[in-house]
Amino acid sequence: MQAGKNKVVSVHYVLNILHDGKKVEADSSAEGSPLKYLHGSGMLLPQFEAHLEGLGKGDSFEFMIDYFNGYGERDEKNVAGIPLESFKDEQGLIDYESLQPGKMLPMVDQEGNRFQGIIVEVTESENVIMDFNHPLAGQDLYFSGYVADVREATPEEIDHGHVHDHGHHHQ
Ligand SMILES: [Zn+2]
Repeated sequence: MQAGKNKVVSVHYVLNILHDGKKVEADSSAEGSPLKYLHGSGMLLPQFEAHLEGLGKGDSFEFMIDYFNGYGERDEKNVAGIPLESFKDEQGLIDYESLQPGKMLPMVDQEGNRFQGIIVEVTESENVIMDFNHPLAGQDLYFSGYVADVREATPEEIDHGHVHDHGHHHQ
């Protein structure tokens, strides 16, 4: 069976990005636990699915997706200073330990949308500079790996648009 529309595909993969001209690992499937996805459901980058289309169990792959087709360009407008005031807890205290550069923080905007930001620095003018770009924005993505399994999706999985597996809960 081959990866294609309405198939559940299991893949082991490594994602490398270039850092100072060298490939470094940015992400990978967990050991013994492949990424499972419903092909055609739009869960993954369209080009990732396109490269896997037609591959069967045991087939390996290696391809690059440029940043334009990946997570887009970095936009410096997505780097912003947030007043230190905003990081006070209920007692009005600031946990400076948690405000370390490189740390990812969950944020909520005025409309209640949740998103992640990475702390760039805490300035003397009491601003926390945060980067709200996707961590992989501006990066070409070098994927390699192999297909661990391909199976037919159940009608319910196709209906829901995602994979049902042990651990998946339903109301
Ligand atoms: Zn479901």
